[in-house]
Amino acid sequence: MKKAIVLGGGGFIGGHLAKKLKNEGFWVKNVDIKKTHEFWDLDDISHEYIQGDLTDPKVVERVFKDTEGNYIKFDEVYQLAADMGGAGYIFTGENDANVMHNSALINLNVAYYSHLAKVKRVFYSSSACIYPEHNQMDPNNPNCEESSAYPANPDSEYGWEKLFSERLFFSFSRNYNLSVRVARFHNIFGPKGTWTGGKEKAPAAVTRKVAEANNGESIEIWGDGQQTRSFLYIDECIKATQLFMRQDDFSGPVNIGSEEMISINNLAKMAIEISGKKIEINNIDGDDFKKKYGFKCPTGVRGRNSDNTLFYEKIGWKTDKKLIEGITNTYKWILSQL
Ligand code: NAD
Repeated sequence: MKKAIVLGGGGFIGGHLAKKLKNEGFWVKNVDIKKTHEFWDLDDISHEYIQGDLTDPKVVERVFKDTEGNYIKFDEVYQLAADMGGAGYIFTGENDANVMHNSALINLNVAYYSHLAKVKRVFYSSSACIYPEHNQMDPNNPNCEESSAYPANPDSEYGWEKLFSERLFFSFSRNYNLSVRVARFHNIFGPKGTWTGGKEKAPAAVTRKVAEANNGESIEIWGDGQQTRSFLYIDECIKATQLFMRQDDFSGPVNIGSEEMISINNLAKMAIEISGKKIEINNIDGDDFKKKYGFKCPTGVRGRNSDNTLFYEKIGWKTDKKLIEGITNTYKWILSQL
């Protein structure tokens, strides 16, 4: 039986991935700082679930060993654990020290013990947030081609840490022959993702606001709403991740995202249309925002879109689900949670 570890398996992407691996017949070890998964039954997504803090090297060492203290030669290790959240968490500046410190320690530990355990392959989830701010000033024409990452100029400390950790995993690959796969996820969304509490990302936040609003009310959208993004549905993210992980020729870094770019106001309009309600959009920015929340409106870069040319060239697969289908599923799921 093949063995996999999902680090961050108590999270959104980790939960879906672990479930998929278990269905495929893998023996799955799940690790997360959370006691349990908010939306999955632990038996559905793991054979063993370890609640542990991956910033602690002793915990990580234990994760890679069996009960006798011998390293387990895992076939697939997915490193998804990170101290992260949506714009309200990573772009305000208020969590920068924790984001950098915690995620860097997790990655240092995971790269080191993956090497000592001689695992067959490690996947590292980097982010579109590593791309330079100066290439994402025009909402209609952002450049997120993989080769544009350097000279580096991410607009957040979250992005800088991801860039450092990409380099960390590639260093272990160069010096110790650790087989790594590094992908840059672009806004993954869907059911069973964080949708409230401050760490939710734009698609979940916008659909939740629409689901909560009554007919004739308005919803608040941060910034002028002209900022653009693309969003990839969770099922396609898992498919792309596994296709990339299971080929032998290309280690990345490569984008995993959708090329269907949309402005945040249009995303809100899409969710409103799905709801069938009459809802106005209230854009909040500048002094009004600062007065209300106490920090500058954290809208991130002006434009961002995945460039999937390299993924298609190397892996031969394209994401094709329409955004509206994914937002419809997410809207229904959030309604069921309210
Ligand atoms: P998530 O927050 O749902 O999952 C991350 C998990 O890591 C959480 O369950 C969290 O409890 C766990 N974790 C945090 N600190 C930990 C620690 N010290 N020890 C053990 N576990 C810890 O996020 P997600 O959306 O599933 O993202 C997974 C990965 O993909 C992350 O590395 C994230 O940075 C990356 N990523 C996600 C997106 C996206 O749109 N969701 C985009 C780009 C990159």
